[in-house]
Amino acid sequence: MSTTPTQEEAEPETEYDSALVTARRQLERAATHVDVDEGVIERLKHPTKVQQVSVPLERDDGEVEVFTGYRAQHDDVRGPYKGGLRYHPEVTAEECTGLSMWMTWKCAVMDLPFGGGKGGIAIDPKSLSADETERLTRRFAEELRDVVGPTKDVPAPDMGTDAQTMAWFMDAYSMQQGETIPGVVTGKPPVIGGSYGREEAPGRSTAIAAREAIQYEGNEVSETTVAVQGFGSVGANAARLLEDWGATVVAVSDVNGALYDPDGLATHEIPTHDEEAEAVLEQEAPQTISNEDVLELDVDVLIPAAVGNVITADNADAIEADIVVEGANGPTTFAADTILDERDVTVIPDILANAGGVTVSYFEWLQDINRRQWTLEEVNEELEEKMLSAWDDVREEVEAKDLTWRDAAYVVALSRIAEAKATRGLWP
Ligand code: GLU
Repeated sequence: MSTTPTQEEAEPETEYDSALVTARRQLERAATHVDVDEGVIERLKHPTKVQQVSVPLERDDGEVEVFTGYRAQHDDVRGPYKGGLRYHPEVTAEECTGLSMWMTWKCAVMDLPFGGGKGGIAIDPKSLSADETERLTRRFAEELRDVVGPTKDVPAPDMGTDAQTMAWFMDAYSMQQGETIPGVVTGKPPVIGGSYGREEAPGRSTAIAAREAIQYEGNEVSETTVAVQGFGSVGANAARLLEDWGATVVAVSDVNGALYDPDGLATHEIPTHDEEAEAVLEQEAPQTISNEDVLELDVDVLIPAAVGNVITADNADAIEADIVVEGANGPTTFAADTILDERDVTVIPDILANAGGVTVSYFEWLQDINRRQWTLEEVNEELEEKMLSAWDDVREEVEAKDLTWRDAAYVVALSRIAEAKATRGLWP
């Protein structure tokens, strides 16, 4: 067990802790473990800018509706703001700000020359036709035109958006700028400057993080049981890779529920959310359980890879896994984190585990600037190298200061950001 505050010392958790509240608490806690100027910590508690825009949409039946979009830009001391755009009913300025802070740490942990951004539109993407999604995205790109750009702020896919969304965004931006500018977004289809392996990357890095954590604790992947919540691009790719590496994936789920087989599921046979939405339960398995029960299975490794705030003070005591690898952004609340630490559950944080997404986004951005596409093998090799090097940086802090993996990842990130801020100075 490490030196995080006890459950009693931690402030009481409200049911709806936003990403911003959690991100600030995590920052304050991590700051106690690192020798960083207080002024730098204070600056990092606040985003540089949060842009709010109205996005009018003409529905297919001609009716006009107006939605609210955001782009939070947290910090760019190490390079352009970087992070996803999500289409989700719960998108707010505050949520985007918290998520943009996590992107700042994520890019710094991976030592990428980017800062943190996040944005989105408060809308249920399932309520949109493909044509409506295209019109909405193009108008959103136009509203954000002044604040994004390949050297300013580079969006990417996130919840409710995908490679096609990025293609429309890039096209709208490029048409207005009068030239093709692929580097304005990442996560595009490879045919227009996207990178091979980008879609699989957050799942791949989550699997790599799980593998390293298993081995760090002295076990073999081939003797490990895994449960995965969420079968989108993160969960499905992580589950499939871990199965390929010999793990027994006993459960996978989507919003409707989970398939459970103690002998292991054939995860390649189960359609991902992108292949066929919410089709997990339509597959054969000896048993089905609820999406929430997946979290409490007696497995070696649990991968929450769906939405945020699923491991809370209410169920943290019931988590049976020895290792939790955060495939989703922010799946563990601040209070749950403390409980898991007290119970000696290893939590590999989102900013390290799922950082493959933004890492391959960086590779994509390099490919766009250089106008040279990498092969899938090159991408996966470089990703493996980046993940192992970040893993080592974080492991050193875990061992040197007896920290949780989350605090250690924050220490690595904060040290890099603070050094950059100190070197550049505060001006004007
Ligand atoms: N949305 C992803 C994340 O949360 C990727 C961001 C990016 O590639 O810029 O890490």
